[in-house]
Formats: sequence, structure tokens, C-alpha cells
Amino acid sequence: MTKDLNTDPIWYPFTQMKLAAPPIHIERAKDCTLYGKDGKEYIDAVSSWWVNIHGHSNEIIAKRIAEQALKMEHIIFAGFTHSPAIDFAKKLIAILPENITKVFFSDNGSTAVEVALKMALQFWYNQGDKKKTKIIAFENAYHGDTFGAMSVGAKSTFNAAFEGHLFQVDYLPTPNFENIEIVKNQLVELVKHQDVAAFIFEPLVQGAGGMLMHEAQHLDQLIQIAKQNNVICIADEVMTGFGRTGKNFAINHLQNQPDIVCLSKGITGGFMPLGVTVCAQPIFDAFYSNNKAKTFFHGHSYTANPLSCAAAIASLEILLSEECQLNIHKIAQSHSQFGETIKGEPFVKTLRQQGTILAIELNTEEDSSYFNTIRDDVYEFCLNEGVLLRPLGNTIYIMSPYCIKSEELKKVYAVIEKVIEKFKTKHKE
Ligand SMILES: *Cc1c(COP(=O)(O)O)cnc(C)c1O
Repeated sequence: MTKDLNTDPIWYPFTQMKLAAPPIHIERAKDCTLYGKDGKEYIDAVSSWWVNIHGHSNEIIAKRIAEQALKMEHIIFAGFTHSPAIDFAKKLIAILPENITKVFFSDNGSTAVEVALKMALQFWYNQGDKKKTKIIAFENAYHGDTFGAMSVGAKSTFNAAFEGHLFQVDYLPTPNFENIEIVKNQLVELVKHQDVAAFIFEPLVQGAGGMLMHEAQHLDQLIQIAKQNNVICIADEVMTGFGRTGKNFAINHLQNQPDIVCLSKGITGGFMPLGVTVCAQPIFDAFYSNNKAKTFFHGHSYTANPLSCAAAIASLEILLSEECQLNIHKIAQSHSQFGETIKGEPFVKTLRQQGTILAIELNTEEDSSYFNTIRDDVYEFCLNEGVLLRPLGNTIYIMSPYCIKSEELKKVYAVIEKVIEKFKTKHKE
């Protein structure tokens, strides 16, 4: 089957339309399986870009959306409010760290990040602090595709065309056991002039950067330095939130809590677009004023969409159920057992795991860039084997819905074992 994507009316994201194979047409999806129009089935081992935490077409979430749709699909969210938003905000705050008291709605991960950055910058502006405008981010970070989010992300081929339009950011290496003292000193140096507004980070796991992981204790030390120096800490939990790291949020692994947290992706169980930026009371207090100029001037047409909020409430209830918590625990255990069996392979360069996320970096001659060819070959191979895995460069990772059955996990592991066997000829000596 050949079809020129040039004649396709759809322009697909992250797709070189001239080189890409025609997209696979999926007709329906249930739990962890995608059913192709051509009869082929795929295990969705990446939760469809990390959003689907409870399996496809989950009946509880679907029903709640349907009920809400017949009651009220959407209303303007300034001057008006509704129960799905109120209920979700209350339920979310109840499971977030104690310092978090306010929920600001938007509709995707990038906007949740934009909101966080604007909140942090205006926090200082509203208090008349003209100096505090700098932002610190981690190397290899990914925070989304809008301009602010691109600015705080790592500079790469992905955003090279816009580089002149991105604001300046100071980058800090992600900490590890070797560099932690150096990184701490570097941070102390960066914050000493009291001109840093915020420090933004993906806690514990840097997703799009290649499933890179760092220790909670190290991040904790950096947050402490930031806080001691009046720097607002922003945790971008767009990917890590809602159980991914084994706890409800990655920040639950920390002692020091951030001031602002960005959430999206798994928030609605993968049903509806929704983003939230939650913050601590002092952030909100800097906007709370008789002065209208101190208002937070931000909002999107679909802010707090009731259907999205209904899905988010249902998804949260499922997440907190005993069954789901047990599934999360089981996946984590299963991943570490599988990791043990492939650890010694020379073609396996490093294994990284945080809760339900397992990353396997292959020992290839090419670097771990998104553009290396092994990525495409492994992707194709896995699809042919009936498993959707989307390697980041030479790093294969599993990030399945929590309801994945043990037989399905076994199939995913078996395909990864085949990859290791088949591609090891490209192994670096
Ligand atoms: C995916 C992602 C984003 C961007 O979210 P979108 O909904 O794709 O805009 C931001 N931050 C992190 C950590 C992400 O993984």
C-alpha cells in the first residue's frame, strides 16, 4: 500500500509528511488494545502519548462524559462556574501536598506550563520587584511546544527555527551522584543576585528528553536552595502526574514541595483535553488585590470544560481505587523483574525505572538523538509484532495504561527481548 501523504488533507504533528509512512487507521480501542481497520491489533504500551492511564474506552469515564454532555456541555468560565469544575478542584486539592490551595484551569500541558511561568513572573511584578525575571530550567528538559514552553525546554532541532524568539533561560545539569555538589554550587551561583523568578523542572523523570531520571533526594536539595533564595519552584508533572512514578505525584517522593504544579496528560484518563496549574496560597495572594492591574489576565475559550472535568473526576476516582493502586504496584514490580533478566545484555546500555515507567537505553553506535535510524527500525519492528512502542532515539520505554494484563505485559517484554536480539548487530563494541 502506497499513498502519498501530500494528497492527505491532514497535516500530522511531529511528522515529516514527505518521508512518513501513511498513518495506521485505528477503528476502535478497548483497554490496552488498538484495533486497526485492516484487522491488525496493537498493544498500546505508550498510553497513546502518555495520556491514557485507565485503558481505552473505559466505561465509567465514558458514561460520566455522556451524562454531563446531556446536562451541560460547556459554559463561559469567567463570571460563571459549574459543579464539575468545583468538584474536581476540591478532589484534586485533597490529594495534592498541603501547601497547594488553588487550581487554575486550561486545556493542555503546554498551556499549563505557560500559565505557571506567567504566574511566577507576575508574582514578582505585582509586588514591584522588577529584578526577578530570570528562569532556571534543567538541561534536556521538555515542557511543551508553545513559545514559553519551548523557551524553558532544551534547545534542539525541534525549536531551532524559533530560537531568536525564545526567551533566555539558565540551564542546570540534572543531578546525579557524581555531579550533585557541582550542580548545587552552580545553582547557588545562579540565584545569588536575587534576580531569578522561577526554577522549572520535570520531577524525577524527564520524559521527552529520553526518559532520563534523577534521584528525589538530589532534586530535594536543589529545591531547598531555590526556596532559601526566594525562587518560585515549578514542578511540571504533566507526564509524571496521576500515578506514573508509583505515587500519585512525583512530588510525593520529595520532602520539599514546589509552589506551582502543572498537570495534564493523564488527568482525564486520556478522554478529554484538560490542563491545570495548581499553586500555593502565597502565589495567589500576590494577585489578590483591590488593584485590577494585579489580575491574572489569562484564560482559554475551553477553560474548565465540563466534559473534561467530568472525565477528570471519574479518572481520579479510578486512580484512587484499591484495584488501580494495586495495578500500579504490580506493574512496577513486574518491570523490575523484567529489568533483572535483561540487565546483563551487552546491547543494553542502561536501564532506568521509576514506578510504572521502564526505560531501556540501547548500546548503539549512534547517539540517543530522536533522529537516529535505529529508532525508526525498532518502532516499525515492534508495530509489526503488534506492540506500539515509540522509542526516543535509542531509548525504548514502556508506559502502559495501569489496567494492562500480565499476559499483555509479557508480550511487550517478549517483543523488547526480540529487539535486543535482532538489533544487537548494531551494537557498539
Ligand atoms: C507532554 C508534556 C508537556 C506538553 O503537554 P501537551 O499537552 O502536549 O501540550 C509539557 N510538559 C511535559 C513534562 C510533558 O511531558
